[in-house]
Amino acid sequence: MWRRLKLLAFRLRLNVASLEAPCFQASPECGRMENQTLPYLTQELKKAIKNAYRGGKSLGSTEKEAAALLDSLINTALSYGTSDIHLQNLGEMKVLVKFRIDGVLKQVVELPPNISDGLLSRLKYITHMRLDSPLPQDGRFDAKYQDKNVVVRVSVMPTRLGEDATLRLLADIARPKTLKELGLQKQDLEVIERALGRPYGMILVCGPTSCGKTTTAYNMIERVNREGVNVCTIEDPIEYVILGVRQLQIDLSVGLDFALGLKAILRHDPDVIFVGEVRDRETAEIAVDSALTGHLIFSSLHANSASEAITRMRDLGSRPYLLAATMNIVVAQRLVRKLCPKCKTKTKPRREDAALVKAGYGIDISKIDVHEGRGCKACQGSGYQGRTGIFEALRISEPIKELILASAPSSRIIDQARKEGFTSMFEDGLEKVKKATISLLDLLAATG
Ligand SMILES: [Zn+2]
Repeated sequence: MWRRLKLLAFRLRLNVASLEAPCFQASPECGRMENQTLPYLTQELKKAIKNAYRGGKSLGSTEKEAAALLDSLINTALSYGTSDIHLQNLGEMKVLVKFRIDGVLKQVVELPPNISDGLLSRLKYITHMRLDSPLPQDGRFDAKYQDKNVVVRVSVMPTRLGEDATLRLLADIARPKTLKELGLQKQDLEVIERALGRPYGMILVCGPTSCGKTTTAYNMIERVNREGVNVCTIEDPIEYVILGVRQLQIDLSVGLDFALGLKAILRHDPDVIFVGEVRDRETAEIAVDSALTGHLIFSSLHANSASEAITRMRDLGSRPYLLAATMNIVVAQRLVRKLCPKCKTKTKPRREDAALVKAGYGIDISKIDVHEGRGCKACQGSGYQGRTGIFEALRISEPIKELILASAPSSRIIDQARKEGFTSMFEDGLEKVKKATISLLDLLAATG
């Protein structure tokens, strides 16, 4: 009996030795939790883990307890503004739970075998995945948080050590609801507002993966979505439901790609079309043609800056005269973590950072005040709270159309744009550094 208890205790130990704050252990004999110092391991979550252990005894948690644990995990994650929950398999059915908060992965807790197994089974069951399939699988389910609907997109894949799952939390309440809330400042906002007032042409939002492009596009769509306007989208995936908008989901398993979806939408008499991403020649061609024939087209594009987006469209086969005729504006953006208002402190830029800015952008920042987050209880020691965008909005004016027609390099386009009042993403970010919204180091990392 003693041996069995010891074995059970060994199997159930929540081993977090590899974590930054390795202080959480479950004592299964009495269900007691000890030494809670891991910042994201709330009392609610600890209780759910404890119940899952009790419910399952040594055989694995029952469905009811696994369901409660999953709910608790999602609630806790959303209370910290988590965008993704990672369940990383460590082998022997142990799973490490991580939250992605403001773009950074944070370790939460390691679940012992009998609990993690039940949790993964529960996830597969509610997303209608096959329990016995060795292949990667995707699914989704609806959850509730503060009486609001949250769509949870689940991906499961077999790794060397066992099955991993990633849960993307698409909580509409967490999404900025206006262009200003995204972090757009007056000048760029005006350029965008003017472009949204035009009934046709192309608006591109660009940046790397996870830089907030889709959120910006959604906000723009909501600005033009009104009675009397037929708005259609083709997306992969549909992240948020916009009332009154016809949203199409890409499904490559049946051959429904961006190009096919876009062709279908064009037969439904659209006024405004959002193409989730232009990533191939055919989609680029149809999008440009549609913009030319009286539609307002929004799309996101993988390009580092607004001027690079023009080059990227050319690389995708779009002819300069068509681009010049159709493009309204190009917005480029990045997401940067906002400093925690409770613990940010004033300091001066480091000499090497000031030198870097001087050399790269010709701006002297050595005399300005900058801020850094020290870390406090309110921000779980991270020094940050939430994120904001830094932007540049390039208006395709008549002189810039001429430059596009002449296939001019990006540098000449930017020189002309500057004469018309264009400010770069770095300059927008520097304003936010001066306002103590973001740190200089994060700005340099985002734009470097
Ligand atoms: Zn703080």
